[in-house]
Amino acid sequence: MAAIVKDREAPEAGAGNRERVGRTRRERREAPRLRLAVELFFLLLTVALVWQYHRFVGAVLAGAESLPPRPNGAEAFLPIAGVISLFHLLTTGEYDPVHPAALTLVLAAIATSFLLRKAFCAWVCPVGALSEWWSALGKWCWGRLFRLPRWADRPLLALKYLLLGFFLFGIVRAGDYYYYEFDRHADVGMYGYWFWGRYGVTMIVFATLIALWGIFTHAPWCRYLCPYGALLGIFSRFSPARIARDAERCTNCGLCAHRCPAALPVDRLASVGSAECTACLTCVAVCPVRDTLDLRAGGRRLAPRRAAALVLAAFLGMIGLAMVTGRWRSNLTEAEYRRVIPQMRTGPRMPHRW
Ligand code: SF4
Ligand code: SF4
Repeated sequence: MAAIVKDREAPEAGAGNRERVGRTRRERREAPRLRLAVELFFLLLTVALVWQYHRFVGAVLAGAESLPPRPNGAEAFLPIAGVISLFHLLTTGEYDPVHPAALTLVLAAIATSFLLRKAFCAWVCPVGALSEWWSALGKWCWGRLFRLPRWADRPLLALKYLLLGFFLFGIVRAGDYYYYEFDRHADVGMYGYWFWGRYGVTMIVFATLIALWGIFTHAPWCRYLCPYGALLGIFSRFSPARIARDAERCTNCGLCAHRCPAALPVDRLASVGSAECTACLTCVAVCPVRDTLDLRAGGRRLAPRRAAALVLAAFLGMIGLAMVTGRWRSNLTEAEYRRVIPQMRTGPRMPHRW
């Protein structure tokens, strides 16, 4: 059994007058390991979905008589279509029958945010995971990651909200046009973009610049640009879950703030309510003093394994519910896919603006 580090081994200072007990190595490793396992699970699931969709498209293009099933979960790549469907749901009451999985996944991400802040970004999203690992590689190369000065960081943080506003404005303004024209074959359009190289030089340059930036600073796409993260951040403000600090036990070592990927001043707050907090539990993992920094909801401590279980239950539970209530499978027919998919190779003749 790992030895318990007594309070004298924890950094000095702090106004605490209660006994401070250090945390074991095993306790400190629990949260990062659990999160890595959940991230890997969703990343592998994503790879499997992409592969299955690729097989489906390949079979259509080859004119196969019987097609492998089209994976509805691949609609995870249609967050904009999902938000369009959400707007359609709110304005008409109709649950999108064309891309119900895209809508379900948006609702699952929103539900996760209500429960556990922006946990979707740190636990579920494969882009978030890859961005994080890419930046970790940068940290390994340079020995550290760089943070932008506050005067540059603050305005850049607003960028993702501006992008979100831009998309929401377009969705609300175009309303049914987007729903009927853009949404219908969004999955084929997206596939055409990435697998048939129709995304163009601009996208390659943009992705390269983001990757270069990400090797010097932590996940800039997620921090500054992702409109989906901005949307979930807004919902996370209503979450009862908070990282809470016991000021009496705290030694003011500053490790939590130093390691927080969102650059939040955790060591100076009683609880973290920021829309930037992803419930990644990095601060909880590095805090050297037991029962000082915890994820809490409704006054109760949420241990890392409970947090992981909650993320999985919220996200997969919503998907399971959608499956059993018939809100997962698209009503697009095989014949329609056979008609539309070959068009994506020959340029912008899709029946929508893609
Ligand atoms: S406050 Fe803690 S849980 Fe929130 S983003 Fe920072 S390190 Fe992660
Ligand atoms: S809460 Fe932060 S500052 Fe306080 S002991 Fe833990 S890591 Fe150090």
